[in-house]
Amino acid sequence: MIINNFKKNNLKKEESIIDVKNLTKLYGSFKAVDDISFSVKKGEIFAFLGPNGAGKSTTIKILTTLLKYNSGQININGYDILKDSQKVRESFGIVFQDPSVDEELTAYENMKIHSVLYGLEKINAKKRIEKFLKVVELWDRKDDLVSKFSGGMKRRLEIARGLLHVPKILFLDEPTVGLDPQTRKHIWNYILEINKKEKVTIFFTTHYMDEVEKVADKIAIIDKGKIIEKGNISDFKKQTKSKTLEEAFIKITGYDIREEESSSLDQLRQRRKITRR
Ligand code: ADP
Ligand code: MG
Repeated sequence: MIINNFKKNNLKKEESIIDVKNLTKLYGSFKAVDDISFSVKKGEIFAFLGPNGAGKSTTIKILTTLLKYNSGQININGYDILKDSQKVRESFGIVFQDPSVDEELTAYENMKIHSVLYGLEKINAKKRIEKFLKVVELWDRKDDLVSKFSGGMKRRLEIARGLLHVPKILFLDEPTVGLDPQTRKHIWNYILEINKKEKVTIFFTTHYMDEVEKVADKIAIIDKGKIIEKGNISDFKKQTKSKTLEEAFIKITGYDIREEESSSLDQLRQRRKITRR
């Protein structure tokens, strides 16, 4: 009898590159993620949406092996997240919701460290660092300390860094928040190009519904830890008799998603206003 013990990635085209079944995560006794299941196909652009506190970042941290979970089954790029966590880690790049660049280093040094951590060949790394810093228009600032950068510039640097090792999946947790519309557009153009040319699967969260409508193939909406909607944007709009995704989102959650720039008190007021309507 031949027993196949090879832990290889034998994903076929059309198979799910992200597969989540019955995932639950508790912080103490609080259920932040409550029995969610969804999958993302290879090459897809998948938007994971939900109001603040819904459980989006928690889910991303779990999928990227940074956070333990209580129950569920997760496969990333054909690998079991618990059994093959190293293979899983090699499969993705990530842009976190919170800033994660080193302020005391230059932009170039931040990129270089990442290339070393990922074991990129020196020559390759040099070329890629230049390419990606140019894409996010930071090449002429490459030798400046990141502490001098604006929030938007730091974000652009993180995006360039996330792409450096040409991952199979790129996780982006609110990648464009706080950026001006032109930079947002530029960044999305590049992400779309990466998705198309290098077949990188994109999993992202955002509060900008216009971005979602323009770029996403599929969406899932999470609210209070539960997935309340998943599928195509057009089906979702039809089903809720909405003209825009934003309208559909408000109808189904009772919240306006555009809350990221307001204070929590404003958010509370906004939520109350909408729920009372
Ligand atoms: P989102 O990214 O959708 O805004 P999060 O995943 O960050 O939401 O948070 C989901 C819920 O879990 C929120 O109620 C949040 O306050 C809570 N939460 C997040 N991180 C922790 C933590 N480390 N300890 C306890 N509760 C947490
Ligand atoms: Mg978050």
